[in-house]
Amino acid sequence: MQFEAYGRTDTGPVREQNEDTHLVDSDRGVFIVADGMGGHRAGEVASKLAVDNTHRILVDATDPDETRLVRDTGVEDAADVLRERLRYAMNQASLHVRQQAEGKPDLQGMGTTLVVLVVDGDQAHLAHVGDSRAYLFRDDRLMRLTRDHTVVQQEVDAGRLTPELARMLPHKHILTQSVGSHGPVEPDTTTRMVLPDDVFMLCSDGLTDPLTDQEIEQIMRETPLDLMCHELVEKALGAGGDDNVTVLVVGVESTDA
Ligand code: CA
Repeated sequence: MQFEAYGRTDTGPVREQNEDTHLVDSDRGVFIVADGMGGHRAGEVASKLAVDNTHRILVDATDPDETRLVRDTGVEDAADVLRERLRYAMNQASLHVRQQAEGKPDLQGMGTTLVVLVVDGDQAHLAHVGDSRAYLFRDDRLMRLTRDHTVVQQEVDAGRLTPELARMLPHKHILTQSVGSHGPVEPDTTTRMVLPDDVFMLCSDGLTDPLTDQEIEQIMRETPLDLMCHELVEKALGAGGDDNVTVLVVGVESTDA
């Protein structure tokens, strides 16, 4: 499957730094968004380290630890191997971020969210930790593909909180796991079939805080792929978004292209 990808990030009107990092590697079909956290510049450092490390491990098949891990799992299915590799890469990234913070008081406790999309043939593999999200826009409908690793999402899942109320709570960003600060992580991973005209969208909460899924869906319906990131970022800032905002879209070609 051929695809076209775009990414955009904006610091927003309030923050001095952009703690989001994104990566578009169309040649390898690897796409990543990370939203860092920590004092001073620590968030920026964490998200950059996590993205670079994850990407390096995913594309570098010669990593001896990585090949060992795949062999140890004993899995045969290519999709299983890839998801296992995603989990491994994110765990290695997490350890790396943690190690980099050691002995550096200004980086202590730094961490980051991480959402990774790998498009391989007609399959899309996703893995995430934290509350940066992946969506699929298909047949004019927007579908959320990730479940936030947040305390409020746990409450929603348990039926103790409605999604509408969850959006309003001040502690909605407290994560149940993050890359770096927690050391080992347990990413959620999925594989799905890619269809012509699918648009995968990865984003930080700078997009999903000010805009509802319905609003995002409407913008995606009305906007051509090459302008989508720009439009989504502008609408998020226009809706009062004051956080760093990052959006990445991967559009699969039409069959009649
Ligand atoms: Ca954020």
